[in-house]
Formats: sequence, C-alpha cells, structure tokens
Amino acid sequence: MADCTAEAKRRGWVVAEEYVDDDVSAYAAKTRPAYERMLVDLAEGRRDGVIVWHMDRLHRRPAELERFVDTCSTAGVRDVVTLSGDIDLAKGDGLLMARLLAAVAANESDAKRRRGARKALEIAESGRPVMGGPRPFGFEGDRVSHHPAEAAVIRDLAARALAGESLTSLATWLQESRVRTVGGKEWRTNAVRQLLTNPRMWGMRVHRGQVIGTATWEPVITADQGERLRRLLLDPARRTNRTARRYLLTGMLRCGRCGNRLYSMPKNGKRRYGCATGPDQRGCGGVFIYAEMLEAFIADAVLYRLDSPTMAQVITGDGPDQEATRALAEAIQADNDRLAELTAMWADGELTREERRQATQRITLRIEANRRAFARLTHRDAVTDYIGRGADLRAQWDGLNLSRQVAIVKAVLNHATILPAAVPGRHGLDESRVDPEWRL
Ligand SMILES: [Zn+2]
Repeated sequence: MADCTAEAKRRGWVVAEEYVDDDVSAYAAKTRPAYERMLVDLAEGRRDGVIVWHMDRLHRRPAELERFVDTCSTAGVRDVVTLSGDIDLAKGDGLLMARLLAAVAANESDAKRRRGARKALEIAESGRPVMGGPRPFGFEGDRVSHHPAEAAVIRDLAARALAGESLTSLATWLQESRVRTVGGKEWRTNAVRQLLTNPRMWGMRVHRGQVIGTATWEPVITADQGERLRRLLLDPARRTNRTARRYLLTGMLRCGRCGNRLYSMPKNGKRRYGCATGPDQRGCGGVFIYAEMLEAFIADAVLYRLDSPTMAQVITGDGPDQEATRALAEAIQADNDRLAELTAMWADGELTREERRQATQRITLRIEANRRAFARLTHRDAVTDYIGRGADLRAQWDGLNLSRQVAIVKAVLNHATILPAAVPGRHGLDESRVDPEWRL
C-alpha cells in the first residue's frame, strides 16, 4: 500500500480510494468485496486509473483478467499502473503483456498446488508427521517423541472420559490443574473432544481428514480406547449445544456484573439470555434476562435511530469521513423530502404528470448515487437502504428473516450491557437494566 501511495504521489494522481481485501488470496475462488467494488466504480466511471503493486494482486486466473480488461476498455480506463512496469491496456502489447503475466501466474499457482499436494500425500503414506504449524499436544517438536507430562495427561483424560466423565468436567479439571494447550490457552470442551478423538493419539496417520495408515510414532493410548472414544464423543446425539439460531442478540450482550458475553439459556421453554458458568463460558452466572421483550426493546431503539433526522445527527461516529457521510445523509434526506413535495405539487395541479415524472427520475438517480457513496464511506451496507425510512423498516421488521434483522442491529449496535436484576430471580425487562453502546 505504501509503495502504491508513493507511486500515486510521484505521478501527481489523487488517490480516490484504496481497495484492500485482507487475507483473501487472488487465487482462491473466494469473492473479494473491495475488488468487486473497484470494478463497479471503474465501470460506472468514478475512477479513471488503477495502481497495483503487481498484476498478480489483481487476478490469478486468466478469466478474471479478461473481465478486468473488459471493464477498463468499456469505461475507457487506460491508466493501469503496476510497480513492476506500466501496462497500457489500450495498446495491443499492453494487453498481451497482462495476459502473459496472468497466464504465468495461474500456471505457477496450479503447479505449486499440485507439487505441494503430491508431496504431502507422499509424506502421509510413509506415516511421517506433518511438519509446520504448532506441534500436537502430547508430542515433542519432532512430532514423533512423546512429551512425557502431556502424554500422561492424555492417558488420564481418555480413561476418565471412558469411565463416563463429561467433557465439561474434564475441561474444568484441566483448567484447575493449570494444564494449557500447546498455544498456551485454557482448554475448552471442544478442544478436549478434538484431542481425544484424533487418531494421531493411537498411532494412526491422518491425511485430509482420513486415516491412511499407521504412523511412524508410538501410540499414546490404545487403538481400542481411541475407537471407543470416537463412538462416545462424536455421537451426534451428544451435541446438544448446536441449536439453530433463534436469538437476535447473540454475541451483542455483555454481563453487567463480570463483563462476559451472555449466552442463550432458555428456561422452562422460555427464551432467555444469561451469564453462563462452566469451562467454556467462565461467566459469573449472576445475570439473566428474558429474550422476547429485550429483543423488541432493542429492535425498537435500533429502528428509532435509523429514522432520518436522528440518523443525520448521530452519524458523527469517528473516522475521517465524518463530514462527508453527514453531508450525504443530509442530501439523501433532503431528496426524500423533495420527492414528497413533488407528489403534493402534482396533486395541487402545479406540475404536469410528465414534469413530475422527469423530476422524480432525476432525484431518484441522485438518491441512488448518494446511497452508494454512503455505503462506501461507512461500509454499513445493511442500513443504507433504510436511511430516512425507519418507519418503513418498522412496518417490515417482523417479516424480515433473522439474519437480515441481525445484520441491521449489528450495523447500529456495538453491544449492550445487561445489569443484574434489582430483585434477584426476576428476569424480566426493566429498561434501566439495559445499557446500549451504539455504533451510529
Ligand atoms: Zn456475569
């Protein structure tokens, strides 16, 4: 990024926007939101040049390059600069150059992947360990010799699990005995389950999730124990904590007493959030609140904040684009007012139908453009459609599916702290118990 910024400065170009897709390789077939946004901006004529460190940051598959070239040539964008040398897409050899680079990059990625996969399979078939990454618990850095203390812990855990002790109890025991994972973390039930069901522990070599043979290391527990542990711990009937999401505020609530997040903890069939104790959650167990009224209360507050005059005022959040976002929100609001005014003027006979149509079209286009700009500045796509339309949203709210509702609440609410009930045991809604922290 620094190199590209310097290049823009050297050329005297104004950097309109930086498009960054962190941690998304151009080769992996994942979508790259910023890249897609850049293509749209180029196509719609909002950008007239691109600086990229190397062409392989743009695309590693030839088909992607063709799309990029298409977009640029349709929009008349010629200034595509790479720091390894300019590529002028308007010239025949510029395009050829870019195509060659893309073909080479695609071939390299492919070959590298094939070589890597073949090598990994070869190692797996020989029973040797995977190197790289953290060592497995129970083994030394060579991944073959046992780590005496940890291996003893594994044998202990296996015996206790087979004797019927729960994962919760085992994880608690590990935490209390100050046994840590290889990464230095406290043990959670899922990690204990993974440890005890990993065939590596009984001397099997696993490759891509499949046991493909005997490993070169000594087993820590017997194969018979291992198979019984798998039957016991991977039985789907045991997995009771995987319920479908029915809770609007999951992950957005904090305990007012200990600061931990609240979890869904239904009671007598009634949906409820609570501060959970135990090895995974480690809360204080002191705060509970019934879900239904709380969710209605928060949703209402969210919709209120999305209502236009409030919205324009509250978009004062931090960030360098504060002035611009505020101006855009105000412009959108003003145009919405104008649309209403047009209808009134037409009703009063001050405008013909055609005049009204033309004016409406012009204003609608401007609103659309401003909404897109607003979305780019705030990255809050979930709510941009609803600026100035909080009342509409309120009417539709109950009909939206839960994930859409969650997206809208999350765009506006950072988190809410739930204070303990004034009367112990009363888990109902008392608005003074709710302390929201808004993003907008
Ligand atoms: Zn708590």
